[in-house]
Amino acid sequence: MIKGILTLLLPILLCSGDIFAQIRFSSGFESGSLGEVKLIDSVLFSKRAGDTTLHISYQVNSRFDPFNPIDTALRPSARWYYFRMDGVKDKMVYLEIKNTEALRPFYSYDGVSFFRFTKSENPEKGLIAKRFEKDTVYISHFWPYTYSRHIMKLEEWSANKFVKREEIGRSSNNLPIDMLTVTDTIFSDENKKRVWIHGRSHPSEQPASWHLEALTDYILSDRPEAQDLRKNSIIYIVPFINPDGVYGGYSRSTSTGVNIEINWDRPDSMTMPEVKALKAALENVTSKKPLDILLNMHSQIANSASYWIHTAESTTERFLDRQLLLSALTMDDRRYYREEDEQFSAVASRYAEGWIWDRFGENTLAITFETPYTFYKENPEGEWVSVDNLKELAEDTFYAIYDYLMIPGERRVIIETERLKGRGWKVGERKERRYFGDDYHIDESGNGKAIFRLDNLTSGEYKVYNFKSNKWVEMDIVLQKRDGRFVYKAKSAQLEGEADAILLIKQ
Ligand SMILES: [Zn+2]
Repeated sequence: MIKGILTLLLPILLCSGDIFAQIRFSSGFESGSLGEVKLIDSVLFSKRAGDTTLHISYQVNSRFDPFNPIDTALRPSARWYYFRMDGVKDKMVYLEIKNTEALRPFYSYDGVSFFRFTKSENPEKGLIAKRFEKDTVYISHFWPYTYSRHIMKLEEWSANKFVKREEIGRSSNNLPIDMLTVTDTIFSDENKKRVWIHGRSHPSEQPASWHLEALTDYILSDRPEAQDLRKNSIIYIVPFINPDGVYGGYSRSTSTGVNIEINWDRPDSMTMPEVKALKAALENVTSKKPLDILLNMHSQIANSASYWIHTAESTTERFLDRQLLLSALTMDDRRYYREEDEQFSAVASRYAEGWIWDRFGENTLAITFETPYTFYKENPEGEWVSVDNLKELAEDTFYAIYDYLMIPGERRVIIETERLKGRGWKVGERKERRYFGDDYHIDESGNGKAIFRLDNLTSGEYKVYNFKSNKWVEMDIVLQKRDGRFVYKAKSAQLEGEADAILLIKQ
């Protein structure tokens, strides 16, 4: 009777001894970060004799970055947290995480494999409630991408014959900042396209590093498109531009409190060794020729992936169109990224993109790409961000780079319209769509023809895709009987009235 429903609540003050030998919090490890922890409550809950659970709750404050000595108006961030709790087994633990977001963050029993808290374990923003199965658990905002992981991958990548690794500078705490130069050196550099990718100026932005790692893996892979990309381009990759910040578990700053993302227009005396190293490397690789693309990899709190597209007002209409094309090519059927997720801002010299714009203008498509921490496309019912789906997004990014550069590959090649026949063709409105080259054409009569030609195409069967509605739409299959000239004629009706570019993919 009473015993059966008895809930035995023992306030902490009445108890002593081992049962409240409390949970121990620590963050003294790589990327660890934790502010003040307060015990809120500790209660024994007994369903029946011999079945007693300790319910224990804490307020966990996320740690703020040091005060920013340069941009003094900036409030330090406390986004990142990554701490360890010992002594949690079979206890019902409640955490109220402050100063940051806790939307289905991650936990791990070994610090290696991480799992997202379920919706029921994270019933409301900031609150975690879970009975842990093991005595030690790690809690983090996102699956940590540590400095050790970075070094491990650097070693692996450096062993690849297409990679040259060099140190471009050192951080304030004397950690190396490494750059990989990826290309197939059998082919002359003269006409190669140039791509620059850097990441992790903001240490909390773990998803950006998982995305960048997978993108680098694709670039170095054996797939034919990667081989063709390396033959036709040079890719410079600086995966970790703020190693101190990552190592020390900071959120948006270096160990000295500086947000290096926004100091590109400062004199050297007011910026940081990390920015100086990056500027020097960029000056070096662009001394003869500008880059075609610069990608600055970040993560954002918005629940979507997005590019920060620079407005035409702050750049040019043509530059806006080039950005919109890269963005459209990254969407790949909108599986993780859509038009609705694009974000727009004015180019500004304090960012790397602005620094590049001031030097090279339209020649270099310099842009920031953001990955979310939570879910994609503003849809909590859809997929939540994971290391696995960041790899898939990296695959979309890989093909976007490839297609944007119009790599003349053996297996995948884009052909722009060479000639138009018929009187109905006119230049399409630029505002209505994204397009390759300088323009695209529309023909409402449906009688016109567009001719696509390539001097050299190896024999085989190809699927033909039309760039329509800002994406590749499968249109035809063709057989190229022998190596050599390839000509494809399409009626405007088949192209749905718009001639721009086609994509051939070898089967
Ligand atoms: Zn960022």
